Amino acid sequence: MWSVDEHLADVLTGIAPLPPVELDLLDAQGCRLATDVTAAVDLPPFDNSSMDGYAVRASDGAPAVLAVVGDIAASAGELPEVGPGRAARIMTGAPVPPGADAVAPVEWTDGGTGTGTPADAMTAPVADERVELLRPVAPGAHIRRRGSDISAGTTVLTAGTLLGPTQVGLLAAIGRGTAAVHPRPRVAVLSTGSELVQPGEPIGPGRISDSNSFTLTAAARAAGAEVTRIGGVPDDPAVLRRVLQEQLGRADLIVTSGGVSVGAYDVVKEALQPLHGGEDLGGVDFRRLRMQPGKPQGFGRIGKDGVPLLALPGNPVSAYISFELFVRPLIRTMLGAPDVHRTVVRAVCTADLASPAGRRQFLRGRYGADGTVTPVGGAGSHLVGALALADCLITVPEDTTVLPAGSGVDVVLLTD
Ligand code: AMP
Ligand code: MG
Repeated sequence: MWSVDEHLADVLTGIAPLPPVELDLLDAQGCRLATDVTAAVDLPPFDNSSMDGYAVRASDGAPAVLAVVGDIAASAGELPEVGPGRAARIMTGAPVPPGADAVAPVEWTDGGTGTGTPADAMTAPVADERVELLRPVAPGAHIRRRGSDISAGTTVLTAGTLLGPTQVGLLAAIGRGTAAVHPRPRVAVLSTGSELVQPGEPIGPGRISDSNSFTLTAAARAAGAEVTRIGGVPDDPAVLRRVLQEQLGRADLIVTSGGVSVGAYDVVKEALQPLHGGEDLGGVDFRRLRMQPGKPQGFGRIGKDGVPLLALPGNPVSAYISFELFVRPLIRTMLGAPDVHRTVVRAVCTADLASPAGRRQFLRGRYGADGTVTPVGGAGSHLVGALALADCLITVPEDTTVLPAGSGVDVVLLTD
């Protein structure tokens, strides 16, 4: 039998961030940069106004009546020269014209002759040709300097940075349409079992809804993967082999549920025998772990590329806990994420617990802000109702069989 830690170490052996690909910015969202990014341009790219107002020469002082020599919009091309005693009407974001060294907000002026109130002044054409500056402006006032945000040649984001909305926006701002990132792992999730029906289909006697393929797909997506869900592969090794062959070359990781224990229809075990024609699907080791739930597990690499395959047990709680403990860290490693494992905290358990000797037990719980944890539901690996109410796993160590209420326990937080 393997310990939880030994199995996890085996699963992660040789796993590295996926080789970088250049993705369109929005496809790169949620991925991590594979390289540093250096800006090729200054931001702002030119000196521009932070206010609607008049570009002036500070040395003209105030009060002063200035001749208006032009009108500069945000998209302005050719700029008027602002000489002594002159001003140019300017909009927020528009380039500061030559000669001007400050911007007087429109509220600091009379709004210009012939244009009525200051509020109208910015939308009316330059019919007036004069503006009175009511108070002096300091040199540089209301000007956003070229390169004051980012100067060309500097590193703006470092390798490993997670691309969220503001990082994607920054890349766009410096004119980068793509980013070199570790891509999302492509994960194939397969559920096996001839008893499975898909949700919404009529359910006959002895049939059950396939929930595992949904739980595991959702969990893999939440971990950052791009998932293909293949629900309800029948307990027929030939069919399962065909489905697996199809995924080789497409998937970076394959996750199956069911068919790994010691029953009569252990389809995953049967299918993953070597030399069945096509690509060799051998190499998956079926083992028993010193944990509860989740004792039977399969792990190996299949096909010529050695795609990792984790064969999880079929019981829904076992499948999900196995995902959290073993599959999620693998996905996070492929993504290049620094936080590969779930956060573990200490908490005071509010109830008595019993646990089998020699097995690490993972019970579903609710973690309280006061540092306590309360079990939800029992230990049964079929209890999906309680699982959906849980936000953590209470860990009872291998050598502990009885844990009185008030004891300290390790708690695996399941929240992202
Ligand atoms: P198995 O190891 O394939 O025998 O699966 C063990 C038990 O887990 C089955 O008897 C079902 O009750 C349950 N199970 C297996 N696969 C699924 C699934 N995809 N969705 C929900 N329950 C499942
Ligand atoms: Mg089965």
